[in-house]
Amino acid sequence: LFIALEGGEGSGKSTQVRRLEAWLVERGLRVVATHEPGATPVGQTIRSIVLGNATGSLSPRTEALLYAADKAEHVDTMVRPELDEGAIVITDRYIDSTLAYQGGGRDLAQREVLRLSRWATSGLRPHLTVLLDIPPEVGLARGAANGPADRIESESLEFHQRVRQGFLDLALLDPDRYLVVDATQQPAEIADQIRARVESLLEP
Ligand code: C5P
Repeated sequence: LFIALEGGEGSGKSTQVRRLEAWLVERGLRVVATHEPGATPVGQTIRSIVLGNATGSLSPRTEALLYAADKAEHVDTMVRPELDEGAIVITDRYIDSTLAYQGGGRDLAQREVLRLSRWATSGLRPHLTVLLDIPPEVGLARGAANGPADRIESESLEFHQRVRQGFLDLALLDPDRYLVVDATQQPAEIADQIRARVESLLEP
């Protein structure tokens, strides 16, 4: 079972990944919690390039290719081998982040970004994608409490609004794969809604 959590800045993805992981482990299941970008050694280097404030501006195509390289390494060396071993894999961000940030945010053609992402992941799709939806002004304020902004967090509010809309559009296109959760709720309420959906995907 492959689950992705998606959402804008400050949407609480990492908290929910931890909660879901703990709940599944309690049930005796083998779980691998991971994230993009930066879960592999080469991914960490890529992460420091794409998010480092020292990088300055990057061509949108360069940025998209760097995220794709991170994804290829992540899927080939971690996600797919773990799924093959029977683990449940939960990832904090996946292809939909690329579509929302590099497609929606940077205005690259969605179709091209999708083609690149599918190639990078050799077509591996999550069984469930949870979107933690939050207005960017709320999420960015939460994020600011956690330290200085990275290169992407420093983008304009309009950029982050396009990203949010990008995620919502993806959810509308693929309602069977998506669970959209209002991320302004309390963490425990959000966790309950995610569990209910994941429960329905677990074998009896
Ligand atoms: O907080 P998190 O580890 O999810 O941060 C990753 C950062 O990378 C975020 O600032 C996010 O905006 C950015 N990102 C991106 N495009 C992606 C994935 C992440 O711009 N495809």
